[in-house]
Amino acid sequence: MFLGHYAVAFAAKRAAPGVSLGTFAFAVQFLDELWPILLLAGVEHVRVVPRRMPASHVEFVSYPISHSLLTAAAWGLAVGVLYLAFRRERRAAIVLGLCVLSHWFLDVPMHVPDLPLWPGSSTLVGAGFWRSVPLTFFTDVGLLVVGLTIYMRSTRALDRFGRWGLWSVVALLLLVFFASVFLVPPPPPRALAITVLGLWVFVPLMAWVDRHRRFIGGDNQTSARPIRSTRSSSDAASSTGVAPLTSMPSSSATHDTQP
Ligand SMILES: [Zn+2]
Repeated sequence: MFLGHYAVAFAAKRAAPGVSLGTFAFAVQFLDELWPILLLAGVEHVRVVPRRMPASHVEFVSYPISHSLLTAAAWGLAVGVLYLAFRRERRAAIVLGLCVLSHWFLDVPMHVPDLPLWPGSSTLVGAGFWRSVPLTFFTDVGLLVVGLTIYMRSTRALDRFGRWGLWSVVALLLLVFFASVFLVPPPPPRALAITVLGLWVFVPLMAWVDRHRRFIGGDNQTSARPIRSTRSSSDAASSTGVAPLTSMPSSSATHDTQP
């Protein structure tokens, strides 16, 4: 799974609008951002097997620290607690923690059974969508379309960076997805790990885009009206560059500062 993780980041903006899209990008891909570091450290292991599956060339030999269900939950808890410690926003911390955990559940349909439930677990799960190119394509791209739609209905571009910057990031995501699945021959494990470290670039890129968009609620209403400029969320200020706005009738998109 690649695009589907970022779909969760886009959608999560509606659940916790005070959090930067860049922070969500960090959370949803945390396990895959950690994985190459553990590979380079020799803690986890991978084998590159060209055309092992139609949509994947990687054999995940061992990755219990980054990709077991138990450790994914622990990483989610750690990220949530850290965010809570620094920002004091419980709802946002919970959403971020769930974003980290969502990675494991979204990997399950794609991987062949190689995802452990806990380090040392003999039970490995995975539905193997990577065995089918159409299934891989429609799952990843379909999820991205859903997540992106939610984000675009919840935010509005403040300027051309907010509009074209967003599409540039989406184009880059699609490019990486198609290149990794269909075009580029997989590099050896060490080079693969270094390449995957490039995922970190989406954190500042998506934070930058988010700063040029404004949260308006769930229905892309042009009549969005400002509420009290409490700015109790410094992340909100940094992510939007303006006072938090809301006009949504639904509590699902309620800003962190509201009761
Ligand atoms: Zn993963």
